[in-house]
Amino acid sequence: MITEAIKSKLRAVVGDENVLDTNLDRFGYSYDSSFIPLLPANNPDIVVRPLTTDEVSKVMVIANAHAIPVTARGAASGRTGGSIPVRGGMSLALDRMTRIIEFDERNMMVTVEPGVRTIDLYNHCAAKGLFYPPDPASWKFSTMGGNVAENAGGMRAVKYGVTNNYVMGLEVVLADGRVINTGGKAIKNVTGYNLTQLFTGSEGTLGIITKMTLRLISMPKARNTLQLMFPSLDDACATIHAMLQAGIVPAAAELMDKMSLQAVARHRKLDIDQAIEACVVIEIDGEDTAALDKQAEAIEKIARSLRVAEVRIAADAKEAEDIWAIRRGLSSAVGAMAPTRLGEDISVPRDAFPEVVRRIKKISETHGIPIAVYGHAGDGNLHPSVLCDLAKPGEEERVHKAVDEIFAVALEVGGTLSGEHGIGMTKRKYIASALGEDGVEVLKAIKLALDPKGILNPDKVW
Ligand SMILES: Cc1cc2nc3c(=O)[nH]c(=O)nc-3n(C[C@H](O)[C@H](O)[C@H](O)COP(=O)(O)OP(=O)(O)OC[C@H]3O[C@@H](n4cnc5c(N)ncnc54)[C@H](O)[C@@H]3O)c2cc1C
Repeated sequence: MITEAIKSKLRAVVGDENVLDTNLDRFGYSYDSSFIPLLPANNPDIVVRPLTTDEVSKVMVIANAHAIPVTARGAASGRTGGSIPVRGGMSLALDRMTRIIEFDERNMMVTVEPGVRTIDLYNHCAAKGLFYPPDPASWKFSTMGGNVAENAGGMRAVKYGVTNNYVMGLEVVLADGRVINTGGKAIKNVTGYNLTQLFTGSEGTLGIITKMTLRLISMPKARNTLQLMFPSLDDACATIHAMLQAGIVPAAAELMDKMSLQAVARHRKLDIDQAIEACVVIEIDGEDTAALDKQAEAIEKIARSLRVAEVRIAADAKEAEDIWAIRRGLSSAVGAMAPTRLGEDISVPRDAFPEVVRRIKKISETHGIPIAVYGHAGDGNLHPSVLCDLAKPGEEERVHKAVDEIFAVALEVGGTLSGEHGIGMTKRKYIASALGEDGVEVLKAIKLALDPKGILNPDKVW
């Protein structure tokens, strides 16, 4: 219960206009981009929008003193319900903290506040010739705080890794309002436990990230894009393996199955042959065009040896953009195929990719539920999209069974429940099957040490 006295204390910290408590405001902070239905029970009691670390710290002191649940929120583009305030309390919106604090060109690092949008960070660095590679498909709206809290990935992960490969140091406000700094600009640092990596991917359950220092690399000077169409999914996957084994590490290697491809074809009015079972989009990058031309030739040769039906190598940046538009349009095209789409995210060893796609197709047939599959084949991260109409009798039960089976397949082949979207609310019931009961106990012990009252993003992760 947040009394008027508590609200007054919060207003004194962040200003009247940054404490919101009308029904409409509360509703606006009750959902994210997962497919969790809208429920009044998920409305926060109050929304607080701090501007500085000092304000976040003071807000946390008040929340801790009154045991108020606090759910951090960036752009709410999360897919697993992470920023939904399931226990009411406070939605702590970090969208006003948008400063790029320092651009350190000599050390090739940048320090930013959590509300900076991923694309703004990318563009800021690119304008100075430096490259921040993690590129979640949500980069036009997701925030850096959310990216670090979810350890977001993206299409370039196959060559450049994910967010945690770039996080050097963090400023974190703990549950009781204390502020700590972890890591820093020293490249080698083994002083104490690696708290930077502990908070990265902690989904707002261990602390509020108020500042982050990120490593940058130099911007590749040349890029090229290839589109390969295959009549066989196995040959498409085999091409990616053969390419990696030949020492060609692409910046991205994305795969779309037939259902995904046909969805984009309908959406963008393209004519794609029904015999095509898989499309692979590959981006290569490097220091000079001549070397990239050679790589593109080598990839084409591999693909031809594996019965590719069509090869398109972008002649210029415009054509590359046209090819990427197909991949970027996927999420909305697939989403438009059914009243509800549950977008899942599993990660499996790379060589299990075709088997997992086949088993997902079998699950789809068994339950009579269409499932489109696409994903980052270069790193084994798949996004099965379960297409359903939850208003149909029995559909919800069938969908839950299908999703349970998809996660079981991922674990059976040595994979995991999430490659990049985190656990949040939607996958908590599966976490013990992935980590074991003892593994979950370790997570709980860490949580208890950092947040003894359990106020930070309760009911998430386990
Ligand atoms: C169309 C679409 C495409 C997507 N593509 C990708 C993709 O390619 N790769 C990928 O990894 N994800 C993807 N996502 C998921 C999502 O965009 C990412 O997880 C993103 O990093 C979330 O950022 P956000 O600012 O929206 O965070 P939110 O959704 O607001 O929050 C996510 C979690 O982080 C916590 N949090 C937020 N800010 C802080 C903070 N400052 N301190 C502590 N905790 C915090 C929240 O409590 C919550 O648990 C996609 C989502 C959509 C809708």
